[in-house]
Amino acid sequence: MPPPCGGCTHPRRAELDADIVMGGGTYAAIGAKYGLLKDAVRRHRSHISKALARVINEEAGPRRAIDRLEDIYKEIKYTLEDARAKGNGALSVSAAKELRSMIELLAKLTGELDESTKVVINLATLPDWIQARGAIFEALSLFPDAALAVANRLQAIEA
Ligand SMILES: [Zn+2]
Repeated sequence: MPPPCGGCTHPRRAELDADIVMGGGTYAAIGAKYGLLKDAVRRHRSHISKALARVINEEAGPRRAIDRLEDIYKEIKYTLEDARAKGNGALSVSAAKELRSMIELLAKLTGELDESTKVVINLATLPDWIQARGAIFEALSLFPDAALAVANRLQAIEA
């Protein structure tokens, strides 16, 4: 009977398995951490079930880029608050700039800022509108009060 696997019988097996699955270092480095030989770690690698490996990966492995960005965002926010509290103007400004670009990036990732569908129409310079506007006022020339009311409303819209 072969000797029992040092990994399988290890008191911190869960941590060990997680380190191996998530690539927490070379076999030698992981071995040193858990008091195992490099070869024992390599041998134990095949004892970790595929299901377990998947669970570990899903739980803590590939965190979404957006989660990481949110962490960084919080860091910068703390930096900004700290800089403000200490009256550090230069740091406040650069932290604020960082924060702004982080917000833009987050908004892009979450789809809040979809630049491909963002269309800005400047009504006041649209040829069709200018023509229509002329026609409206021509027709309203007989009704000065109405013309004034329309003009005021349009001014608010076009501004
Ligand atoms: Zn093992």
